[in-house]
Amino acid sequence: MQKITIAKGDGIGPEIMDATLKILKAAEARVDFEEIEIGEKVYLSGNTSGIGKEAWDSIRSNRVFLKAPITTPQGGGYKSLNVTMRKALGLYANIRPCKSYYPFIATKHPKMDVVIIRENEEDLYAGIEHRQTDEVVQCLKLISRPGCEKIIRYAFEYARLYKRKKVSCFVKDNIMKHTDGLFHQVFKEIAAEYPDIQADSWIIDIAAARLADTPEIFEVVVTPNLYGDVVSDIAAQISGSVGLAGSANIGELCAMFEAIHGSAPDIAGKDMANPSGLLQSAIMMLNHIGQQDVAERIKNAWSCTIEEGIHTADIYKEGESTQLVGTQAFADAVIERLGRKPQHMKVADYEKGVQLQLPKYQRKLASSKVLKGVDVFVDWKGQDANQLAKVLAKLNSDIHLTMITNRGVKVWPNGFEETFCTDHWRCRFEVSNGSPADKGSIPQLLSQALQENIDVIKTENLYEFDGVKGYSLGQGQ
Ligand code: NAD
Repeated sequence: MQKITIAKGDGIGPEIMDATLKILKAAEARVDFEEIEIGEKVYLSGNTSGIGKEAWDSIRSNRVFLKAPITTPQGGGYKSLNVTMRKALGLYANIRPCKSYYPFIATKHPKMDVVIIRENEEDLYAGIEHRQTDEVVQCLKLISRPGCEKIIRYAFEYARLYKRKKVSCFVKDNIMKHTDGLFHQVFKEIAAEYPDIQADSWIIDIAAARLADTPEIFEVVVTPNLYGDVVSDIAAQISGSVGLAGSANIGELCAMFEAIHGSAPDIAGKDMANPSGLLQSAIMMLNHIGQQDVAERIKNAWSCTIEEGIHTADIYKEGESTQLVGTQAFADAVIERLGRKPQHMKVADYEKGVQLQLPKYQRKLASSKVLKGVDVFVDWKGQDANQLAKVLAKLNSDIHLTMITNRGVKVWPNGFEETFCTDHWRCRFEVSNGSPADKGSIPQLLSQALQENIDVIKTENLYEFDGVKGYSLGQGQ
């Protein structure tokens, strides 16, 4: 018996959780449940994170968490419980299978069967934002090699386990050559270790367009956090089954499983909600804890129920469905069909007793890192970059002004008068003779800037790693 933590959540949460647990028990899942309270009540009791210490203790000791949706109260100050959990528990992989169940559930994409694997901890979601001038705010996009290796390896292992033939990488490395470039580079490295699985890479804009138009060309998609957030919602929506999709958030130590929909307060307490999303996530949970036999029995019974036309109100269609049922009756219908195999929908087919076992990240040998200069960011209310360059030319050390950009576009030397400039200037100082910069030259430069009344708002050091530039050129440089 494996003990798992459950939370019944808010709105329709308790109804769909009761239905799901009833099915798990009837299918003889080898699990015990420990219930915790999270969500609205906890938020409104004054805990702005929506989760208390006892709940954390339960999740951290059981390490597997089945979560019903919660209501985030309106108004400021309440933090997203999901983001907190993903980060605090190191749940680096978000897995969202998006499949259409045509002709039993209406969809424009009858052949769609794609799994979106989204990196869950990094990217613009690091939440590192600053306002630096009157006119400009910034958000730091952090992508790490361990973060890329973990999620991409996960995607290939997932594809192998679930017998999928292709993994597609979605990035925007034509623009973000270093951050998305690293994700793409690691994708190519890891793909080479899986010659049995096809690998292809897409630029996110056309990839999202193709996903919305011809989703059947994708099998497994792996992508950084923000793109994953967007494309996983597109994929779930167009599969025709937002109310039917489950998701898993997987970490090295803990895992959390939940439906993708919210707490649906408009239908709460009416026995109308479709419990399928939470049930699908419970099926993913059973696979994760090595109970593939139970997962398969439930999946087959659920498929029988759907293909026989026994539908809750959200998917019921006159003439196509055969019986309109409530939440609990739907669960009973699934239970009655345990042990049966579907006639039309694909029979669930998992490798038995296999769990994803990923190797621990191995840090590579440190590269040779050489300081080549510094980008000094300046708050300056002027408009003519030549004026700023004149002031900056007074700063004197072994690094010299080579370029000024405004919002990334080169404005000095040889800028265009058409370029619109804000009060946020990036001033690049580099060594002129190719040798390493002296570490002391940056503080020297900054103290001179102070004397000249230049409002420095931040600096970024410029390094070469094993002779390769670790920084981008200015646009137009
Ligand atoms: P929602 O997903 O709760 O509801 C959107 C629509 O879909 C509603 O019409 C609802 O009735 C319907 N719906 C959702 N799930 C259904 C189901 N299982 N069966 C039948 N119909 C279903 O989204 P919302 O209305 O934007 O959000 C409501 C609350 O849920 C908010 O407080 C939001 O913060 C929260 N939320 C929580 C989570 C989570 O806990 N993971 C996710 C999304 C939203």
